[in-house]
Amino acid sequence: MTPVVEKLGAAVDDWVQANNGQLISTRRHLHAHPELAFAEFETTSYLEQRLREIGLKPRRLPTGTGLVCEVGSGEPVVVLRADIDALPLADLKDVPYASTREGLCHACGHDVHTTVVLGVAMALASLDGVPGRVRFVFQPAEETLPGGATEVVASGVLDGATRAFAVHCDPSVPAGKIGLRTGAITAACDRIDVTLLGPGGHTARPQLTVDLVDALGRLITDVPALLSRQVDPRAGMSLVWGAVNAGIAANAIPQRGQLRGTVRVLDRDAWKDAENLMRSLVQRVAATTGAEVDVDYVRGVPPVVNDPRAVALLRAAALETVGSDHVVLSPQSMGGEDFGWFADVMPIALARLGTHGGGAPLDLHRGTFDIDERAIAIGVRLLARTALHALEADAVQSPASGPPPPARTRRPAPGDTSSRPPGEE
Ligand SMILES: [Zn+2]
Ligand SMILES: [Zn+2]
Repeated sequence: MTPVVEKLGAAVDDWVQANNGQLISTRRHLHAHPELAFAEFETTSYLEQRLREIGLKPRRLPTGTGLVCEVGSGEPVVVLRADIDALPLADLKDVPYASTREGLCHACGHDVHTTVVLGVAMALASLDGVPGRVRFVFQPAEETLPGGATEVVASGVLDGATRAFAVHCDPSVPAGKIGLRTGAITAACDRIDVTLLGPGGHTARPQLTVDLVDALGRLITDVPALLSRQVDPRAGMSLVWGAVNAGIAANAIPQRGQLRGTVRVLDRDAWKDAENLMRSLVQRVAATTGAEVDVDYVRGVPPVVNDPRAVALLRAAALETVGSDHVVLSPQSMGGEDFGWFADVMPIALARLGTHGGGAPLDLHRGTFDIDERAIAIGVRLLARTALHALEADAVQSPASGPPPPARTRRPAPGDTSSRPPGEE
């Protein structure tokens, strides 16, 4: 730990201890007032007000919701990202801070991510001597396709920064622990809709028509099976159907049927080829049935591929925050997370924030999801220290303008494990 990180890190710890109650009430306020993707107007105003109160100058993102705001001065610049949207789910919890809006719930923990990043902004803004700038990005619309991250990248909000970090709640990890992983930590996720068309007919005479339900059945089983022999198994690509619709009567062959599913993949190169591959496999199988086929393929989010050096910085911060016994290897998730788009313009790393507080597991995207609120203070300390480590590590050869130098010429970060193969946390 450098003297600057040691001094400012300790000051952040003190700030968090003094303001933990405020952090928890912020999270509860956000939890009680969830808003959907690109409609986070009250959330944005609330954050704007909180940031202005401490003398910061937040700017709205071009999409109308979400904010960007900086603390510190000079170079380098590191980004901390939070997502601010909620889900169209009913909140099923009986707690004082339950959602006040019918059918809306912060069931993915974005209220926690937002509180953590706001907390870091408040903590660092209270200090002198931050060695560069920390840029806080409160991103809208993580839960939709294409997500708000694409807008953030396209709008130039990330320009000039050397790296970006984020956390995501992990209800399978106890509060007090932090999960890290080098390489892919979440999967790419695309959507595929397949429509089959045929003449229809009587189930007594399938030979005179195209048996559309049979054709759907072939697609359901044959496409995933063929896929498993067309793609390197290490790419972790899977096609799972989530909906199938066709027919009404027991004795009539329908004229139309539809399949809908998701394609998930952990390897970014394999993801690039996924659309063409999926289209050709569906065409191939459909051709054997005689049905006419139409494929609608929607590219979703890329995998979040954690950069080894960025993970090393997170690890240094995590070790200081919770100690080595509480830093765990995070498994790969087949879930999607649009933070992966940030990797188009800079190295990124996403950490898993343990939120499980005992009892039955409370999974994400369910109306029962809740957290052990002790995780919030840990998230603030983790990301604040990560930002400080990153500013120190990137300071050495960071020019006043222009792109960051190649990673290998930078000063090794504390706890740097970038020479290890991915996955060996
Ligand atoms: Zn989610
Ligand atoms: Zn999420």
